[in-house]
Amino acid sequence: MYVLTLLTPAHARSVTVNELTEQALTAAAQTLDITIDAADTARRLAATYLDSRRVEGRTMVPKGILIVRAVDDSTAEFFRRRVPAGWLGLVLELDAALRAVDPDTTYTDVKPKWGELRVYLSTDNERALGLAREATRRSRTICEVCGAAGTLHKSPWGWHRTLCPKCAAWMGHTAVNDEG
Ligand SMILES: [Zn+2]
Repeated sequence: MYVLTLLTPAHARSVTVNELTEQALTAAAQTLDITIDAADTARRLAATYLDSRRVEGRTMVPKGILIVRAVDDSTAEFFRRRVPAGWLGLVLELDAALRAVDPDTTYTDVKPKWGELRVYLSTDNERALGLAREATRRSRTICEVCGAAGTLHKSPWGWHRTLCPKCAAWMGHTAVNDEG
């Protein structure tokens, strides 16, 4: 499985695909709202392979940078059960960064709470804990449903979620004004 993240000056948006075929790349590009030449993009990504088994890399696209990362299915499944879809790219990025700084750490818990992503780790490694805090901070700006830029919203029953205006309207949530 691969996570494709479109990084623009305004937001980070991710989709997952099972295989990195031209067809899957084309569909992912549509979801991310970018136009790419899938064959050309696949070639350019291939040029940045980190090693022959895992296709990973980044390439410039019209709206920003497209980052492609391979994840194993068990990791993706672990997060999919705990984290809303819009934050999947965020936690997978966090996971990759954690593996690099503190390979032995495990997740005590990962969950949405009060409209932000909470990550609890079995470590006192300050860099790892810092990465988790950073992910929590970033989650406050990412729609947990679709991955677009988001802010804190509230359901009619007082449930907090970070949402973009479109998802908030669709779900009947209202914006929570920080100053209010
Ligand atoms: Zn949204």
